[in-house]
Amino acid sequence: MSETFVLVGAGLTTGTAVTELREAGFTGRLVVYGAEQHLPYERPPLSKGYLLGDSELDSAFVHPPQWYDEQDVDLRLGVEVTALDHRAHTVTAGGTTEAYDRLLLATGASPRRLALADDSGAPVAYLRTIEDSNRLNDSLREGRRVAVVGGGWIGLEVASAARSHGCDVVVLETLDLPLLRVLGPEVAQVFADLHREHGVDLRTGITLSSVTHDGGRAVVRLGDGSTVEADLLVVGVGVAPNTALAEAAGLACDNGVLVDEGLHASAADVFAAGDVANAYHPLLGRDLRVEHWDNAIGQGRTVAHSMLGQAVTYDRLPYFYTDQYDLGMEYVGNVGPDGYDEVVLRGDVRKRTFTAFWLRGDRVLAGMHANDWDATEPIRGLVGQQVDVARLRDEAVPLGALAPEAGR
Ligand SMILES: Cc1cc2nc3c(=O)[nH]c(=O)nc-3n(C[C@H](O)[C@H](O)[C@H](O)COP(=O)(O)OP(=O)(O)OC[C@H]3O[C@@H](n4cnc5c(N)ncnc54)[C@H](O)[C@@H]3O)c2cc1C
Repeated sequence: MSETFVLVGAGLTTGTAVTELREAGFTGRLVVYGAEQHLPYERPPLSKGYLLGDSELDSAFVHPPQWYDEQDVDLRLGVEVTALDHRAHTVTAGGTTEAYDRLLLATGASPRRLALADDSGAPVAYLRTIEDSNRLNDSLREGRRVAVVGGGWIGLEVASAARSHGCDVVVLETLDLPLLRVLGPEVAQVFADLHREHGVDLRTGITLSSVTHDGGRAVVRLGDGSTVEADLLVVGVGVAPNTALAEAAGLACDNGVLVDEGLHASAADVFAAGDVANAYHPLLGRDLRVEHWDNAIGQGRTVAHSMLGQAVTYDRLPYFYTDQYDLGMEYVGNVGPDGYDEVVLRGDVRKRTFTAFWLRGDRVLAGMHANDWDATEPIRGLVGQQVDVARLRDEAVPLGALAPEAGR
């Protein structure tokens, strides 16, 4: 009898996994549950080209609708899975129960809420879905004042889009620099300068005291007693993994669904991948939850093979990218909880065409480039390697000559 694989969450991870399963020759039943009404899609355009009005959504979908018919994928969109019984090998959704042989949890992540703002009655926006992006797009009108809480990737991309729409933008960040935790002060400063040069009123080291509303506008009171008024308050203070289903089912969870290097969860025949998975990374030697596009694709592919019973491991180094104004960057690696000793910068930081390497001793923990697209592969080759630091610092030595191998 043919097997049934059930995939929960119709995001990029599941879109990639079902593709890989069919390409690998799986002929059994594929049942996909998605709480959103949409076919699996990529979210990055929602804060970039699509929000800017530069691109259509069509290209964001993993496949057009007919692909799922052709590949015999049973898509159940707008349906949330509400219970999992891993002993009985069943899930419950919309009042019906579905049995599975193998189950993928790819439930993703949701924006962390800011109760202060939610309870204020002020106009507040978050950004995760197509609907969120459409609403935001409607609000970003020339001359409007937008306050963004949180100087992370989403907050800064929204700030960039809002400036492009002619809005007056203030970004409120509690740390001393935006992106400080990910990039450290040396490179985070580049993003602070970038936004200020594009007219963003970037306020760092702030605390929020209260949010109220006045005639339909948001009034944010800061810890120093000052107030910021805005037509819209956009909250971008990170995301939390959607683990409720897994937790209620008794699966091991800690900052996500805990999975091994083959993306197996703590119960037989249950797997997790993408934003929701906290996966053991064999090269880094620790658990890591990655909230990025490349990880959704990479783990989506690997988990398909794992579900097919193949002995595979996910050991791709974390990768992410952003586009803000005229700055495009790509970052590979993960500095980790122990931090780094130094950052080696090469190129012209002032002109925002450079590479950066985060080192502990002579080991490269992470690398990135800004507007230097030829550097992507050499960076991939260097991350995780021990290098001759003097040669890395010496810009006369091409990056390609330092990298022992590219393409991880
Ligand atoms: C605006 C935006 C911009 C981004 N830009 C970048 C970028 O530039 N670079 C980058 O690397 N990454 C970016 N990301 C991150 C990237 O989009 C995510 O890493 C990726 O979407 C993760 O895919 P996923 O399938 O694991 O989870 P998700 O995309 O979160 O999809 C999970 C799906 O599961 C559904 N679901 C949850 N629970 C259930 C349930 N019980 N039953 C049924 N369905 C359920 C959810 O509704 C959701 O549709 C961005 C994210 C956002 C929001």
